Amino acid sequence: MLIGIPRESLDGETRVAVTPETAKKLKAQGHTVRVESGAGVAASAPDEAYVAAGAEITDRAGAFGCDLVLKVRAPQPDEVGLMKPGTVLVGMLNPFDAEGLQRLAAAGITGFALEAAPRITRAQSMDVLSSQANIAGYKAVIIAADRYQRFFPMLMTAAGTVKAARVVVLGVGVAGLQAIATAKRLGAVIEASDVRPSVKEQVESLGAKFIDVPYETDEEREAAEGVGGYARPMPQSWLDRQKVEVAKRVAQADVVITTALIPGRPAPRLVSEEMVRSMKPGSVIVDLAAAQGGNCELTEPGATVVKHGVTIVGETNLPALVAADASSLYARNVLDFLKLILTKEGTLKIDLDDEIVAACRVTQDGQVTRK
Ligand code: NAD
Repeated sequence: MLIGIPRESLDGETRVAVTPETAKKLKAQGHTVRVESGAGVAASAPDEAYVAAGAEITDRAGAFGCDLVLKVRAPQPDEVGLMKPGTVLVGMLNPFDAEGLQRLAAAGITGFALEAAPRITRAQSMDVLSSQANIAGYKAVIIAADRYQRFFPMLMTAAGTVKAARVVVLGVGVAGLQAIATAKRLGAVIEASDVRPSVKEQVESLGAKFIDVPYETDEEREAAEGVGGYARPMPQSWLDRQKVEVAKRVAQADVVITTALIPGRPAPRLVSEEMVRSMKPGSVIVDLAAAQGGNCELTEPGATVVKHGVTIVGETNLPALVAADASSLYARNVLDFLKLILTKEGTLKIDLDDEIVAACRVTQDGQVTRK
């Protein structure tokens, strides 16, 4: 099959969907791999590395003109026009973006959105949300440590003792767990909150303290269990009690990392302006939910601002700041997904009895087929 890898054109997107490592594997499977010139440069993969892996270098039209197009981000409207009807497109296609999906369907593209894969064991190796959230959680702490004007670890020096930084993590999914692990490695003292009760044990196993907000009604208990591993919106009664507990911790924190998300909805607001005002000057908030509106009321998506003496980082694409490893992991996710839709002979086979294929398929035959 003719496989195209365009250069990502979205502002700040440095990742690439196929690395020289996975290009070599696709080539070994008998495919022809065409990479747009410069597609991997920002991820430390120059054209020569792809050529050495057996890929061909092409231009933009050449990459989008292939039978199978592999991307990181959903294509821009002008890029959709570069693909011929019947093209199979695999990437993070924003399954909640109805307009974008409609555009793909109208162009006759068969689209697979990898973010829509179910959270089941068999899908773990192709779970792009996890591979990228893990990176975001790590990078959030590194950015916080860089912006924070004090040490993270406790230090006893001849010039006196320095206290360990207090870090609060709000939302403990994949990104939050990695944020805790990274902050712990740097020597911080960490507390964390999540709506899902199963998280408590994970938080404690990483050496952090769980901010307990007991459930008082069956409705709260049921909502907290979530659905398919994801959180559901919690009843206001629980959120109000969580706010009181979180506010106490935030006021004492040096660093707050927020990662709370509910799929397909705006991010829950967990840090109010009043809470920011209660923080010490020089404290840092890194809001991983910035792209979904932010967990902090004062977050400005895409910008870093200082409000009430607190630095608030609203970076919307943290994985892109770790471009090489983010691309390596993403490319392996893509390669694993392709095993589900390509036969050993290298032809396309869309088996809708496979629950992963069925969940990821968002457009086909001119229709939006998203489940
Ligand atoms: P996510 O990015 O959708 O959300 C991040 C976290 O925010 C979640 O833990 C969620 O519970 C939390 N949250 C939502 N509202 C909140 C609020 N008001 N206050 C505090 N926290 C709030 O989640 P994710 O990282 O994609 O992972 C969700 C879960 O799925 C995790 O438990 C993860 O381990 C699990 N998972 C399972 C598999 C698998 O079994 N194959 C794969 C990946 C992830």
